[in-house]
Amino acid sequence: MTRHPLVGTTRTRGVLTGYFYPGPVVAGRAEGAQMTDTTDATVQPHFGELLDGLRATFATGVTRPLAWRARQLDALQRFLAERESELVEAIQHDLGRPVAEAFGADIGHSRVHIKHTRKHFERWARPHRGSVGALSFPATAQVISEPLGVALVISPWNYPVQLLVEPLAAALAAGNCVVVKPSELAPSTSAVIARHLPNYLDPEAVVVVEGAVEETTALLDQRFDHIFFTGSTNVGKVVMAAAARHLTPVTLELGGKSPTIVAADADIGVAARRIVWGKLINAGQTCIAPDYLLVEDAVVDELIDRIRSTIHSFYGDDPGTSADLGRIVNERHFDRVCGLVDGGGGTVVIGGGRDRTTRRIEPTVVLDPDLDSPLMAEEIFGPVLPVVRVASIDQAIDAVNSRPKPLALYVFTSSNATADRVIATTSSGGACVNHVVVHVLPESLPFGGVGPSGMGAYHGRAGFDAFSHRRTVLRKPTRPDPAMLYPPYTKAKESLIRRVLR
Ligand code: NAD
Repeated sequence: MTRHPLVGTTRTRGVLTGYFYPGPVVAGRAEGAQMTDTTDATVQPHFGELLDGLRATFATGVTRPLAWRARQLDALQRFLAERESELVEAIQHDLGRPVAEAFGADIGHSRVHIKHTRKHFERWARPHRGSVGALSFPATAQVISEPLGVALVISPWNYPVQLLVEPLAAALAAGNCVVVKPSELAPSTSAVIARHLPNYLDPEAVVVVEGAVEETTALLDQRFDHIFFTGSTNVGKVVMAAAARHLTPVTLELGGKSPTIVAADADIGVAARRIVWGKLINAGQTCIAPDYLLVEDAVVDELIDRIRSTIHSFYGDDPGTSADLGRIVNERHFDRVCGLVDGGGGTVVIGGGRDRTTRRIEPTVVLDPDLDSPLMAEEIFGPVLPVVRVASIDQAIDAVNSRPKPLALYVFTSSNATADRVIATTSSGGACVNHVVVHVLPESLPFGGVGPSGMGAYHGRAGFDAFSHRRTVLRKPTRPDPAMLYPPYTKAKESLIRRVLR
């Protein structure tokens, strides 16, 4: 075994192992990474040897046995349990999130989902018998879920543990080698993952690559067998274009503006409480946060009053400084969110305060925003809630359908018929009736977007399937082997074929 200069642990079986740390990017060059010199201005890290190593590991078959997969899932759970305090501290450092949110949304959520996968993956992996029908008789058939090979998981910063370890668990349960790329915008969490994760998992099958756009671009130059990307719709297009060069299948978990419809017959107190909660966890930096409200005119004032009192009951008299409210991830995003409010038209009826030095923005409600403004066109990803009046539920449905399909849609109503109508006449990645965000919780239900909010899904069986190929294997006896199936095709054979295939 020799220590490789580019990686955190060791080299065995000729395989690069552990974590790959390209180091700080200096003048367009990731120090420490392997370099391909093209021109002086475009020196880039490349990951050819890394991929060769992982392919060699996969080719040995070591990742296929269920026992190996079970060991990786158990080790992932141990990583979360033993490194919990470092991970929570890192998330707090990166995002200023309260412990309850850092633990609940990242560590706790991941543990529950991995536990579910650990409990069921052996059943999901079991080949199942298929019916062959009359055409292939006599024969038997099986559908076998086989691993795809080497997968790439690219994660965003907003839930920097959950959105890395949950797809990783699905990929491992399905028997793949994996490269995980945490987000550079949550650098403390990325560092904890890079430092410790390789000590838990098979270092010849799982590699952590830290880095930003340059490193991710270099990774995407390589041929993977699956790419699982969570992030913005714009970068999703970049990832899909890169994957297309190798015909690599992708799962894209993207963003968008998730609308929330509030009908006049809704329980306004409950609606206000749940909307405020879902909007303000992680300071609004949640992909399925309610982005904007479509509220029936008759209840707009009451809803805003209830939202105001709820914000005060959750976060006190000075919500912008509450320790229970996270902060904006960086100054660029802080300026972006403030710009959306400033250019959004309408009236700021709640909040509006901000402090660039702490990157905190008060929970802010904008009534009657300009519908053509960036506030109503871009994903907000901050603690800002536009409220749009609608004359009827039909008008709300038309407003939803006139925009790109969102990642989530929420409707508050006491009428099942209204809820059913909204669900039946719109499309979104997921939806909740009388709540927000919580459809991400059940560990056995598929989670994903549709159209520009994403493609494919994961969580539970859906995650296992995303990283598997379902291979149909048909077994035939050598007898009988009727001559009429083969050329030359006589009239009699043709009429038989026509009779059979009717
Ligand atoms: P992002 O798209 O900017 O970055 C995501 C990842 O892609 C990061 O690891 C980053 O390093 C990498 N990346 C960024 N630019 C790249 C480029 N040009 N080429 C290659 N790689 C690149 O997203 P973000 O800001 O980290 O996260 C916020 C977005 O993610 C929001 O749009 C949010 O809705 C979405 N999101 C979606 C889900 C979901 O489950 N659907 C979950 C969380 C976040």
